[in-house]
Amino acid sequence: MIVRTPQKITLANLPTPLRYMERLSQRFPGKSLWLKSDDQSGFTLSGNKVRKLEFLLFDALEKNCDTVITCGGIQSNHCRATAFACAQLGLNCHLILRNDLDQHGNVSAGQANHFLAGLCGASIELHTQVQYARTLNDLFADAEARLRIKGRQPYAIPVGGSNALGVWGYIAAIAELKQQCEAFDIEPDIIVCATGSGGTQAGLTLGVVLEDMTTEVLSMAVCDSKEYFAKKVSEDIRLCCENTELSPLQIDDIMRRVRIQTNDNYIGPGYALADREVYQTIADLARLEGVLLDPVYTGKAMHGLLSELSRGQLAHAETIVFMHTGGAFGLFPHARAFGDFLR
Ligand SMILES: *Cc1c(COP(=O)(O)O)cnc(C)c1O
Repeated sequence: MIVRTPQKITLANLPTPLRYMERLSQRFPGKSLWLKSDDQSGFTLSGNKVRKLEFLLFDALEKNCDTVITCGGIQSNHCRATAFACAQLGLNCHLILRNDLDQHGNVSAGQANHFLAGLCGASIELHTQVQYARTLNDLFADAEARLRIKGRQPYAIPVGGSNALGVWGYIAAIAELKQQCEAFDIEPDIIVCATGSGGTQAGLTLGVVLEDMTTEVLSMAVCDSKEYFAKKVSEDIRLCCENTELSPLQIDDIMRRVRIQTNDNYIGPGYALADREVYQTIADLARLEGVLLDPVYTGKAMHGLLSELSRGQLAHAETIVFMHTGGAFGLFPHARAFGDFLR
């Protein structure tokens, strides 16, 4: 199905590499595991969020906005990427952050993504988890009102950049991946990714339908339940389709064909909290394949995938593409937890 892609600006280094993970594949006879390295979409902009920001910030510039407001956890990759993208484009950036606690009850303020966002000039307001959860809409409205009083033009981006426009980042990524797969002469049976705010999952899930691929998309939840993602992802997909030239009949047809698959068994102790198995998987992948995963998203998703394969699940999937959505900076606040593996 041909749908006109909205306009975007260029921020990411694309296409990102697709590579075969030979030693990891050898551990699972009959399987080929490939890595789509969206961790290499940039350095300061690295990870999956920059693909969404290409569309969102085009829209912000088109609407003559001068200040981007967005939100996330204290170590949000999305907020860091947004802050750097704004700095590159000469826009102001305001971040509404949730002060998450680690296993030991410490906050990682001043480190990693939080440090980087401040470094490139984003203004930051920090809120407790309760305040953030209860009043996020009000926090956005207040920030917008304050900026308007100063004569600024705010542009609000929801958590993770996951809205009807942001979804296009991963629809476009599917077209890119399809070409690369053709060049390697492979047909992936399944694409596996981490899901947090759902936009990556929505884009990939809709993308395979629009590209007429038989590939399944399986997302590993890092926070909410699979019921939550079923609803959120289907809403994002529908809204995304409604903003195109597709007719209501075509949209109904697409909604019948999309298969939203989420596994919520690998969240572990909670969002941004990891247990020993995830740290072990991160150390294994670094040593086996030279791949750097993070404890919040990609480490959990990889741990989930490898656990499923070890248990004989996903039997129908021979060619597997793991979507590496980035997150390397989020590793550093967890460095101490690796003590055991580094001796
Ligand atoms: C945000 C993020 C995800 C999840 O993507 P969503 O589109 O928010 O579901 C996965 N991996 C990393 C590293 C991220 O920063």
